[in-house]
Amino acid sequence: MTPSTDQFAYQQCIAPDCAATFGIEEVLVACPQCGGLIDAAYEWDRLPVPGSLRVLEAQWARRSNPHAFSGVWRFHDLLPFAPVEQCVTVGEGQTLLLPSDGAAEYIGVRPGRLLLQYEGMNPSGSFKDNGMAGAFTHARLVGADRAACASTGNTSASLSLYCSVTRLLKAVIFIGSGKISYGKLSQALDFGALTVQINGDFDDAMARVKEVSQQLGIYLVNSVNPFRLEGQKTIMFRVLEALGWQVPDWIIVPGGNLGNSSAFGKAFHELHQLGLIPRIPRLAVINAAGANTLFDLVHRKGLHWNGGRPCRDAVAQFYAEMDAAGRRASTIASAIEINRPVNLTKCLRALEWCNGVVREVTDQEILDAKARVGAGGLGCEPASAASVAGAKNLVEEGLIDPGEQVVCVLTGHQLKDPTATVAYHTTDQDMFNKVLGSRGVRRAAFANRAVMVPNELDEIVKAIRLYS
Ligand SMILES: *Cc1c(COP(=O)(O)O)cnc(C)c1O
Ligand SMILES: [Zn+2]
Repeated sequence: MTPSTDQFAYQQCIAPDCAATFGIEEVLVACPQCGGLIDAAYEWDRLPVPGSLRVLEAQWARRSNPHAFSGVWRFHDLLPFAPVEQCVTVGEGQTLLLPSDGAAEYIGVRPGRLLLQYEGMNPSGSFKDNGMAGAFTHARLVGADRAACASTGNTSASLSLYCSVTRLLKAVIFIGSGKISYGKLSQALDFGALTVQINGDFDDAMARVKEVSQQLGIYLVNSVNPFRLEGQKTIMFRVLEALGWQVPDWIIVPGGNLGNSSAFGKAFHELHQLGLIPRIPRLAVINAAGANTLFDLVHRKGLHWNGGRPCRDAVAQFYAEMDAAGRRASTIASAIEINRPVNLTKCLRALEWCNGVVREVTDQEILDAKARVGAGGLGCEPASAASVAGAKNLVEEGLIDPGEQVVCVLTGHQLKDPTATVAYHTTDQDMFNKVLGSRGVRRAAFANRAVMVPNELDEIVKAIRLYS
């Protein structure tokens, strides 16, 4: 009998000075020895790694099998921490990589050079489903009966969906007060999750859910969970697949808790180590200016991976200053409105592996970019548009050449946050001021305003003639 692939999977602390290893069946959110973050790791030389990435395309011909259909599990050979027949899928990862020439023009690259990886097409409407497939699979592997998360909205929507579709676990979600868009909250409520709203923001909810899950033995599916990030690696596998396994020049992603950027770095590093890609694309992580911990730490405190020894004192001092000043994240891009990104050190490692850069963009820039993306037909939520706004600034800076191939990840669906979209396009100045003006947004250069016409046939005909 051939041994099951998960025998060659384990967990490992990412701090090179510790590098403690743990069994795949352990439930860890941090290294018990040094507090560091945990990776899923593999003995690749004992595993049946494909000789070339093209081999993986053959899976698609077997798509009547749910694991071959899944945009996560058809890459099982590259995240083999559980036997494939035990991997949980709800059909995630059927996403698109599409050129957007309108957005390309907006950011200043040549036609065809900007591609949007549209993760809004996932079952719950955001990229989180890729990670949830991974975390859920591990939860099942360890026999959990409940799973919890703190969430700005999309993780809770995803967890609730997986719970209600599979009926394998019960969902407990923690949200901050007034910080979640109705699109996302409506999903968790509709899917039947136990929803715990606390007085505080995402970071408060995150701290509490860690305590509660430990006390009650509830499985935690936030992106400190290493198996979440294994699932999110597949976003990059699908980008490569859509490009005929050619490596693009740039991957640009919004940065919140920094799970995606960490997962993408790991994906490319592993593919490169395995000899499956000839080079690694550059990574740009884009913070919202109102939630720019990573940007500040990298650019103002000089924080970097430093061979696995990033300066802990600089980080501790930064958070102490933040708390002393009462400074809290504030941005219209609620999915990245985070003070203390949980995957900070993994992201620093990804920046090292991918020759990466970090930038920040204002809410004004985010909303303008979002409108340009929406005008191209694949609408996204505000946080997602940070990637396109960041790309525009990087072209202006001269770091991205107009001839380079740029992939921006659109992390969540347009319908997640209709309030922000309607406020941008509205003719109602009060609504604009309330939703956007309060965040320093002054204009809506790309607004598509409704035309106000009296309810009279002649007037309506006249208006259509005038405006169309
Ligand atoms: C969760 C989320 C993000 C942030 O991703 P991280 O991996 O936490 O950096 C960005 N956009 C959307 C739509 C999200 O739901
Ligand atoms: Zn450790």
